[in-house]
Amino acid sequence: MHPLPRSLEPLSGESLVSYMLRLGHRLGLSPLHLIRAADWIKDGANPNHFPGSLLLDLPSPQIDAFARLTGQTAREVSALTLAQWRDRYPPITRSLSAPGRLMRPDAWLYVGSPRFCPSCLAGDGTDVQQRHSGPWLKLWHLPIVFACTEHQTYLEAECPHCGQPHDAQGPLIQRANDHTLHPAQCRWTVNAQTPRRKSFACAGRLDHLTDSGRDRPQPTADILRFQKVRIQKEWA
Ligand SMILES: [Zn+2]
Ligand SMILES: [Zn+2]
Repeated sequence: MHPLPRSLEPLSGESLVSYMLRLGHRLGLSPLHLIRAADWIKDGANPNHFPGSLLLDLPSPQIDAFARLTGQTAREVSALTLAQWRDRYPPITRSLSAPGRLMRPDAWLYVGSPRFCPSCLAGDGTDVQQRHSGPWLKLWHLPIVFACTEHQTYLEAECPHCGQPHDAQGPLIQRANDHTLHPAQCRWTVNAQTPRRKSFACAGRLDHLTDSGRDRPQPTADILRFQKVRIQKEWA
């Protein structure tokens, strides 16, 4: 395996999925391509069968391979997973120890379809985030996190364009073979009812506030304080 010609610094708090989407966007490569380059899955394997457990904790050989590929340290790669919270959030440990854990993580984790904050995805205005999107945060995979305290808003549960996801336990990455989508675009498939027609991605932007989103009630100061004290301060 050869290291990639260029890489990308991970953002604070971002998830493994987020990093793969942003790095892939920078290099014009699909997430599937990156995972194959790191020898995580073999050619011919079904890309929809990325185990959700990759987000929870990576085995050492996979950490080392991805670190070499992307020019990061093993510690930086491990920090993209939820492993650091396994002692604080029992569903992580339960998912890692349950039989069949590879395909079905605990119901108290959002794996393939986390909620999100459009303003976080819009980025912090720096050049790199404007080009390759802001972070998809690890915290968004935990159902107990319901608001973004920085942008003082409830997290969005679904794409405002296609209304998906309807199932919180989808594959880790939708349309993993697609290298054309921006990290802040919806990757859910639309119009796939007829098998012979080529399906395509919704591709709606998730980093723009829609009118309906703007009109929704926003969390009060007390609710934001609750979220911040209970989760973000203790877990940072
Ligand atoms: Zn935010
Ligand atoms: Zn959509």
